[in-house]
Amino acid sequence: MNHEQIKKVFKEVCPSGIDFISLKLIKTKAKLCSVKNSFPHSNKLVMDEGVQIEVLHKGQFSYAATHDVSPQGIKAAVNKAIFLNEHSLKWNLYPFSLKTRPSFELRNKKTSSKDLKTKTTLGEINDVLSLACDVMKKESGIIHCEGHGSLRNIETYYLTTNGSEDLNSKNLLDFSLKAIAKNDNDIQTRTWGNTLQLGPSFFQKDLFKKEAFRVAREAVELTHAPECPTETMDLIILPDQMILQIHESIGHPLELDRILGDERNYAGLSFIKKENFGEYQYGSPKLNITFDPTVETEAASYSLDDTGVKASKEFIIKEGKLLRGLGSLESQERTNLKGVACSRMSSWNRPPIDRMANLNLEPGVATFDSMVSQVKRGIVMATNKSWSIDDYRNKFQFGCEYAQLIEDGRTTKIVKNPNYRGITTPFWHNLKEVGDAKSREIFGTAYCGKGEPNQAIEVGHASPACLFENIEVFGGA
Ligand SMILES: [Zn+2]
Repeated sequence: MNHEQIKKVFKEVCPSGIDFISLKLIKTKAKLCSVKNSFPHSNKLVMDEGVQIEVLHKGQFSYAATHDVSPQGIKAAVNKAIFLNEHSLKWNLYPFSLKTRPSFELRNKKTSSKDLKTKTTLGEINDVLSLACDVMKKESGIIHCEGHGSLRNIETYYLTTNGSEDLNSKNLLDFSLKAIAKNDNDIQTRTWGNTLQLGPSFFQKDLFKKEAFRVAREAVELTHAPECPTETMDLIILPDQMILQIHESIGHPLELDRILGDERNYAGLSFIKKENFGEYQYGSPKLNITFDPTVETEAASYSLDDTGVKASKEFIIKEGKLLRGLGSLESQERTNLKGVACSRMSSWNRPPIDRMANLNLEPGVATFDSMVSQVKRGIVMATNKSWSIDDYRNKFQFGCEYAQLIEDGRTTKIVKNPNYRGITTPFWHNLKEVGDAKSREIFGTAYCGKGEPNQAIEVGHASPACLFENIEVFGGA
């Protein structure tokens, strides 16, 4: 069925007298390719299509979903969602108002990523990844290498009984390279990867060859490097580790549904309480965090969230002060706090919940060299290797793949197995310098997990390099 036919069916099958009903038709086409040691490991084409029906009636939400996108399938899903609504009303925990599903203007066909070339084949992606593996294998000491690449096109058609309609299409690119090196009994790994809203033209041979050479050389270098020292020192974190620091110690604790306790069974709570918003000094005055779904190419950029709320850039933390949470209109209604357009679902078979989207650390003014020059004894760390953080998102320790010492204002030797630990708020208060826009990079992941049943979703984080004072650094993990 085309969209006009779906619209006609939706109109016919939605009974009058129900406060609000919406339909989302989501079609995903994905190409996934993986290469190990230059040999093709897997090549897959995945197609997925389904419809989600959401009902809001007498303050109660209910859902039904189906992969049967025929008129009969849509009718059955609408009836099921209404049936579930009628039978769950007596257990209603919170009476939601219709304000949680505002109507929006009619949108035209919208594409969130520029590059719509779709003809790239799995064979072409395979060739780029094989070439990268050839480059990595050439480095003496490399014992294993691999590359992964995927391209997903996701099209969402959204209709509501309060007259809203939207069609959105996005291209998501996910890739990684990995080089493993061995020297005597030591094994070290370097990786390069990202998740972005870009199309297939990103798979450029020259770019992948260049990065393959770098990760292989650095993996070998690490196997000959001394252990990271254990001491309290200044720490410069590069953007590809900053993203995890932001994600785990700012993003998750500020999700309003988590603060409300919805995630307690699965992912835990938060050290932040409702009364902290507008008051709490989360970090140093150099800390500026924005929720920004408007950044081109970042993984979770969109113009409307999955409940039709218009997305806009908002300061979550400004000059260190906590201003607002990551919460949908439902969470905003329940907490009476300001939130953002962050209600998102991983696909047609999961309901929307509070998600992080793009959560970025705004650039400061310090150049990378000026940050290094003010450190007497410190370390630069790059690329996450391991992470651990408690259920309240307070106490953490993170391991990185690669580090370089700073001695008397200059970077000196490479060290292996670098780690650091801290407690969220004191750690962000130790933020001394924020790198300028030149050191800012955009990263993302497709695997932020949340919700029961679980929803893995893409999130983006842009950050410059940052300098933290007096951090507990240790090696050997
Ligand atoms: Zn996450």
